[in-house]
Amino acid sequence: MKKKEFAVIGLGRFGGSICRELSEEGMPVLAIDSDEDKVNEFKNIASHAVILDSTDEDSLKEIGISNFEHVIVAIGENIQASILTTVILKDLGVKKVTVKAQNDYHEKILNKIGADQVVHPERDMGKRLAHNFISNNILDYLELSDDHSIAEVKVGKKMVGKSLVELDIRANYGCNVVAIKRGKEINVSPQADDALRGDDVLIVIGADIDLSRFEKHLV
Ligand code: ADP
Repeated sequence: MKKKEFAVIGLGRFGGSICRELSEEGMPVLAIDSDEDKVNEFKNIASHAVILDSTDEDSLKEIGISNFEHVIVAIGENIQASILTTVILKDLGVKKVTVKAQNDYHEKILNKIGADQVVHPERDMGKRLAHNFISNNILDYLELSDDHSIAEVKVGKKMVGKSLVELDIRANYGCNVVAIKRGKEINVSPQADDALRGDDVLIVIGADIDLSRFEKHLV
């Protein structure tokens, strides 16, 4: 199978990190920035690196941007350039365009002009960390929509030795345990009567309000 080809526009902290990670995973990545120093920094990391202003449609056409399956727009401060770049990429027929939003207003516009995925790394990371601060047992928190999430929860003292039937998390808190991680194993169809161990990690899905009640009472 041919490997998916990526292009990353904007090699700041966010775009740079995506570019590094994709390259380390052996994916072909074209690194793009208008700043020569940034591009030089990525010459030996990405499969190709080019200096280019992504608000210039002709330059993007020249490098055949529409042949890339997934383009990530990681232009930070310059919201105008980020919006214009997104419009051009969609006009040129790029299949999947992921854009980093600076704020909610930026996000709204990006969704309107056809960005396929809008990410908000600072806000999302802030949420994840906040949940981890509330309880050290909340290992991770992933937003599914404005009001639904998945939480990765280390089994708390109140849960050790009890089974899912006894805890009845669904009836008591309205959340569902979709999997249990035990060491490296992930059990996606956990037995309702298995006793939970202190080092188990539950993957729980639910509405944010319900997850919050669950975190407060059981974790
Ligand atoms: P971060 O917050 O992720 O560090 P930055 O704002 O520092 O983001 O970095 C964004 C990068 O995007 C910079 O390296 C900048 O040179 C690049 N950039 C900004 N505008 C354009 C553009 N029109 N075309 C290409 N690259 C751009």
